[in-house]
Amino acid sequence: MSKFLRVKCACGNEQNIFGHASRKVNCLVCGALLASPSGSRVKVSEGTKVLRVL
Ligand SMILES: [Zn+2]
Repeated sequence: MSKFLRVKCACGNEQNIFGHASRKVNCLVCGALLASPSGSRVKVSEGTKVLRVL
């Protein structure tokens, strides 16, 4: 895990999320929760795929 993660939502939308997000990140298309803060790093939700680390 580093600075940015490229993730794919269950709806098919791909977007970049910050690897040290301090708040929840939702899909810009369907609104599903993609990741939530977990300590100093984000925890990616089930159903969200991490495609690569940027
Ligand atoms: Zn979505």
